[in-house]
Amino acid sequence: MKEHKDRMAAYQRILLKLSGEALMGDLAYGIDPDIVQAIAQEIAEVVQSGIQVAIVVGGGNIFRGVKGSAAGMERATADYVGMLATVMNAITLQDALERAGVPTRVLTAIEMKEVAEPYIRRRAIRHLEKSRVVIFGAGSGNPFFTTDTTAALRAAEINAQVLFKATKVDGVYDSDPRTNPQAKRYQTLTYGHVLTQDLRVMDGTAIALCKDNNIPIVVFDLAVRGNIRRAAMGEPIGTTVGGFCEVS
Ligand code: UDP
Repeated sequence: MKEHKDRMAAYQRILLKLSGEALMGDLAYGIDPDIVQAIAQEIAEVVQSGIQVAIVVGGGNIFRGVKGSAAGMERATADYVGMLATVMNAITLQDALERAGVPTRVLTAIEMKEVAEPYIRRRAIRHLEKSRVVIFGAGSGNPFFTTDTTAALRAAEINAQVLFKATKVDGVYDSDPRTNPQAKRYQTLTYGHVLTQDLRVMDGTAIALCKDNNIPIVVFDLAVRGNIRRAAMGEPIGTTVGGFCEVS
C-alpha cells in the first residue's frame, strides 16, 4: 500500500467508465463475481495512492434499451429498464469495493433511497473529497442516452481531470485489427478525428461533451491486470483522445 502512496499520481480525480460487459467476463449474461472483485481490487489500489475515483457503470450485461425496443418495447420504457440494470451493477460493485476495504457510495439519477443516495452533485464531490469511491447508477436518468454520455456528463460536473474508458480493446485503431493485420493503434487522437472518422470510441454525444469541456479520454484494455492503476498513474497506455493524432 505504501509503495503506491510514494509514487506520484498523475491525477487527483478520475472518472472511470465501466461497461456492463466488463463485469460479465466470459459469461453470456449477468455478473461474474470474480471479475468484479478483481476490478474492485485494482480500484482499491488507485484509491490508496490518493486519487479520487468516481465510476459510471453501464448495464449492457443485463439489459439494453435498443435491444428492448427492437423486440417491440417502447424505447423510453426499455431505456428505463436499462437504467435500472445499471443500478444492479452499481450495488454489486459497491459490495465488492467495500469488501476490498474501500468506502463507497452509490448515487442514482433515479431516486431509490432504500438502496442508494439520490444524485446530488455537491454530495458526490464531498464524498470524493473524503476519499470515498462514488458510483453513479441509473445513467443520466434520461432515456435515449447512454452511460458513455453519462460518464462524460458526470466527469464534467465533478471536474474530473480525465475520463477512463476501460474496455475490451487496447486502444483505438485506424482500421479493424481483427480483419486488417496492418491496422495501427493511435497513441493520441483529436476529438474531431474521432467524430469525423466515426471511430466509435464512445458515442458522439459523449465525445462532444468531453471536447467542449476539455476532458481527455483514455481508452484501454480492462482485461490486462493493473491497467486501471497504470492509467491513473499517467503511464501511456491505450489511446488518449484529446490532443493531436499520432499512431504508435
Ligand atoms: N440508459 C439510458 N439513459 C442513460 C444511460 C443508460 O436510457 O442516461 C439505458 C439505455 O437503455 C442503455 C442501458 O441503460 O442501453 C444500459 O446502458 P449502456 O448501454 O450505456 O451500458 P454499457 O454499454 O456501458 O454496458
